[in-house]
Amino acid sequence: MAEYKYKRVLLKISGEALMGSLAYGIDTETVKRFAGEIKAAHDKGLEIALVIGAGNIFRGLSSAAAGIERSTADYMGMLATVMNALAMQSALEELGVDTRVQSAIPMQTVCEPYIRRKAARHMAKGRVVIFAAGTGNPYFTTDTAAALRAAEMECDALLKGTQVDGVYDSDPKTNPNAKRYDKLSYHKVLSDDLRVMDASAVTLMRENKIPIIVFSLADQGGFDRVMAGQGVCTIIG
Ligand code: UDP
Repeated sequence: MAEYKYKRVLLKISGEALMGSLAYGIDTETVKRFAGEIKAAHDKGLEIALVIGAGNIFRGLSSAAAGIERSTADYMGMLATVMNALAMQSALEELGVDTRVQSAIPMQTVCEPYIRRKAARHMAKGRVVIFAAGTGNPYFTTDTAAALRAAEMECDALLKGTQVDGVYDSDPKTNPNAKRYDKLSYHKVLSDDLRVMDASAVTLMRENKIPIIVFSLADQGGFDRVMAGQGVCTIIG
């Protein structure tokens, strides 16, 4: 464990990341690859919790715009996160990693309900805990859920795995001169509206002094390298 700077982390993966090259839904090869990345760090003793979004299946806001009542649409989005959580659980257990899914919306026949102390115990025992159904409340996002659970689990860092290797001053896909920040303050992220995560998630992390690390999940071994302090990323703190 001496290898890693952090002992316990929460990794947020957006739903879109699970699509791989698909236009919608879950690409099982991509889920397997992420599971492999998680296993590698888990095998080195890192305590890991996950929050997975649902943009690959259902987003409340866009569906509300299309005519579904907003809270109902958000509950549908939360249910979709449970599907992603189960897909990830299956991939992790296939690799021999003990995993528990806890849902903020109780559904006992499918997974455990969210119980903070039980989740902390799972983590201490070396199980990967996947927090599903966001915060359990409409009008929130899985970014906020990730920050909330990171604070509740007393994590040392909140990791946001994205398609790019950090936070840039402009879009690196369209601007070849875009500059990546190695470090950023919470204040700059909020005042410049850098949209790394929701403002409520960033504020919660600032209040609890938990760093947010933005890195690329697209790079093989990226999670391990970032945890070992050798990877490319942006650290917000
Ligand atoms: N959601 C919600 N409350 C929460 C978390 C999520 O209502 O605490 C709903 C919301 O409709 C959101 C959807 O679930 O659009 C999927 O989450 P999110 O958009 O954060 O997923 P991501 O962008 O990370 O894939």
